[in-house]
Amino acid sequence: MATVADTKLYDILGVPPGATDNELKKAYRKLAKEYHPDKNPNAGDKFKEISFAYEVLSNPEKRELYDRYGEQGLREGSGGSGGMDDIFSHIFGGGLFSFMGSQSRSRNGRRRGEDMMHPLKVSLEDLYNGKTTKLQLSKNVLCSSCNGQGGKSGAVQKCSACRGRGVRIMIRQLAPGMVQQMQSVCSDCNGEGEVINEKDRCKKCEGKKVIKEVKILEVHVDKGMKHGQRITFTGEADQAPGVEPGDIVLLLQEKENEVFQREGNDLHMTHKIGLVEALCGFQFTFKHLDGRQIVVKYPPGKVIEPGCVRVVRGEGMPQYRNPFEKGDLYIKFDVQFPENNWISPEKLSELKDLLPSRPEEPPVIGDTEEVDLQEFDNTRGSGGGQRREAYNDSSDEESTHHGPGVQCAHQ
Ligand SMILES: [Zn+2]
Ligand SMILES: [Zn+2]
Repeated sequence: MATVADTKLYDILGVPPGATDNELKKAYRKLAKEYHPDKNPNAGDKFKEISFAYEVLSNPEKRELYDRYGEQGLREGSGGSGGMDDIFSHIFGGGLFSFMGSQSRSRNGRRRGEDMMHPLKVSLEDLYNGKTTKLQLSKNVLCSSCNGQGGKSGAVQKCSACRGRGVRIMIRQLAPGMVQQMQSVCSDCNGEGEVINEKDRCKKCEGKKVIKEVKILEVHVDKGMKHGQRITFTGEADQAPGVEPGDIVLLLQEKENEVFQREGNDLHMTHKIGLVEALCGFQFTFKHLDGRQIVVKYPPGKVIEPGCVRVVRGEGMPQYRNPFEKGDLYIKFDVQFPENNWISPEKLSELKDLLPSRPEEPPVIGDTEEVDLQEFDNTRGSGGGQRREAYNDSSDEESTHHGPGVQCAHQ
């Protein structure tokens, strides 16, 4: 089957259609640097083209589709090939996030329908790797049988009761010379302003002009997208006669991840190590968001203080529209100290000789008083009860500054 191959995306990157992944990556990297909006603010479209071309060609499935069917193949999706298998059937239509879109007028002067906003929960993995998912939603579309008229042409008539206004105004006389004006929704036409004789009503929509239709939207969550970012499907909201449909807007909601916390394009994680690792170097492995096993090494001789943070450059989240560039990964170290009496007194004395020597104690001047250091549970707050408890069993010891004034009088 000889077809004229579409090579536009390859041309954008300046590589031949048979280019290897590595060649693509190199070409993309070079061009992305050159046309990055930070460096080259006038080349915005060019940069988008480059990013798009790379996004497609670096994905084996998308690349295959493109190679086979060209641009049309990308447009129409894969027809059920892998990667898009994860059919998400979220039936929309709940009021949870229903967004009160402004009833603004559109360019052509028609009234514009409401936008419909829906949350879309995505995992950090999906935001890292990108994902195509399908969303099923139910929406109103104009009835095809009556073209949104509700009946045969001519069957629709202006409501005589309200003269097409949908509301009726009633004037009530309260007292001579005093009237009250009341406005109510016209009951003859239910506020529609028009009526259709029962026999002329469209059978399909029963005169409602619209019918419910299940629609499947293919949602592309791109690499590096963020919490709160919107994916808009223009004009996909409910249809109504004489109204330009609003948009369906998906609002990305990033799900919490057990390991990583995200801050912009950076990732943060906490890793527990023992005292031996903190002092003698270590190596540990973790699974990154794309499934890679990452080995982190820290050489003997370098010390990790409790709570300190080290960084791995370039292992954060991919940048949106520029996924080859990544943020950084910050690792906070939680150093676990050994339990009480973990070592014999003899060994402890050996250890003491190995550890850095103690600082010299400053000379003591005047009277001294010895106090006990006790366990203190930091998580229980520092309310009055807690404080009393801490001093209860040392009644004959003088308390320092927390004690009530009475104790000072005792002295
Ligand atoms: Zn109809
Ligand atoms: Zn009416």
